[in-house]
Amino acid sequence: MNGNLYERLCGQAAADRPFARQAGRGAISYAAMDLRSAQYANALLDLGVQPGDRVLVQAEKSAEAILLYLGCLRCGAVYVPLNTAYTSAELEYYIGDAQPRVVVCKPARMGAVLPQARRLGVAHVVTMGGAEHAGSLLERADLCDTRCPNAERDATEVAAIIYTSGTTGRAKGAMLTHANLAANAFALKAGWRFTPQDVLLHALPLFHIHGLFVAVNVTLAAGASLLVLPAFEVESVVQNLPAASVYMGVPTHYVRLLQHRRLDRGLTANVRLFVSGSAPLLPDTHAEWLSRTGHSILERYGMSETGIIASNPYGGERIAGTVGLPLPGVAVRVVDPDNGAPVPVGQTGMLEVKGPNVFAGYWRMPDRTQAEFRADGYFVTGDVGRFDARGYLSIVGRSKDLVITGGFNVYPREVEAELDALAGVAESAVFGVPHPDFGEGVTAVVVARGPLAAEPLLAQLRQRLAGYKIPKRILVVAELPRNSMGKVQKSALREQYADLYQPASGPRSVPT
Ligand code: AMP
Repeated sequence: MNGNLYERLCGQAAADRPFARQAGRGAISYAAMDLRSAQYANALLDLGVQPGDRVLVQAEKSAEAILLYLGCLRCGAVYVPLNTAYTSAELEYYIGDAQPRVVVCKPARMGAVLPQARRLGVAHVVTMGGAEHAGSLLERADLCDTRCPNAERDATEVAAIIYTSGTTGRAKGAMLTHANLAANAFALKAGWRFTPQDVLLHALPLFHIHGLFVAVNVTLAAGASLLVLPAFEVESVVQNLPAASVYMGVPTHYVRLLQHRRLDRGLTANVRLFVSGSAPLLPDTHAEWLSRTGHSILERYGMSETGIIASNPYGGERIAGTVGLPLPGVAVRVVDPDNGAPVPVGQTGMLEVKGPNVFAGYWRMPDRTQAEFRADGYFVTGDVGRFDARGYLSIVGRSKDLVITGGFNVYPREVEAELDALAGVAESAVFGVPHPDFGEGVTAVVVARGPLAAEPLLAQLRQRLAGYKIPKRILVVAELPRNSMGKVQKSALREQYADLYQPASGPRSVPT
């Protein structure tokens, strides 16, 4: 049997069903999707792409870009999507590391990318536009045959490489196989009860697993359809929600949508499911969404290396502040970081995961791969969490964000939850920076809802938390630094405040 993901995913829907719709572009039926993705596959084959060759794509989001992803699968290429915000300097690393046969970029970047790619030995640079719907790859595809046999692939072969954000050291390319992606798509289709009638409002980027594999692959697996927005923008999400049955977003989307006066039960009446992930959803946001719309947001947990690991139930209770239960077939264990022994239910430890969704390793980094897998096949996620008695998992944070102060371990999430619960605090981030006495000093930045001073917050925290967990400083800031998936960039905060406690730096005037 051909293990090619395209064969597994596509062919679930009747040919005349809509696959994707993008404002101003009309609908693409499943039949048209099959013809156009064949044209992309043939265009890539014409450029000499062989099965296993990498195709690196840094293109604006569009329905057409999804068809290119499918074309890559069909010709057996390894799809390597990149964040559209990466600069030429950043691109240098990714081209050098992935060594693609073809680079696809925006028409406007051709002048910068072409000489760079040539220097790095790339055979072809072609372009694909977003809004302008133009580019040399589209023109090539227009001339190609609309039929193409799907390349024979073993399911264990690599379908895509997703570079992980790499907050420390070099970004690592997570190699996801055809089997990994198929397993996750079908598990989620069943778990979230997708049907051909579903319309998913797609406002996430396409260079990350959430928008690409969770949103697109699950839609394909169900023969459902996508309503594609070029980017997340509150007004256009509000306008399009009545036409959707499912919305997938990051917590920031929900926070911003709550600020829109039209967000209510009427606007969301046709939606059957709101999903959140990629970063923690505050219980407050969950509660506010429920009271405004009547919908309980379903929070799930995943990562580039594994796809989705755990999800709150579709049918059962969705518990705010948890990421629910491991997906069927996925094993999650919580271990003591010091000796790897499983810890009892209720205790916090390092999360390890095993299952058909877990990636094949880091591209060209066998040592890193070996270091992050246990002998019995479990992948060390780097996340810290715990199970409750009902089997629901809570994520406490990343292990590298753990603050060690005066020999005590402080989990930032615990302090953030206490801070967030205080009047006047909209949100917070807690991190450690070097401290002359304590090794690391627990430090907090908070975004205020109104007038706010650090001292009363500290006084309230002292009632709630052990002394060593109390931030040495609380700084009031206008907003938290976030990446495009809504994740708070703790490394940026650690860098910004690196010398906060250093006597040599003298008195600093940081707003409190
Ligand atoms: P990425 O590989 O960019 O998708 O990032 C994966 C990381 O995002 C995970 O290892 C978690 O630290 C974090 N993450 C994803 N979903 C959640 C969630 N629902 N709650 C808390 N953290 C999450």
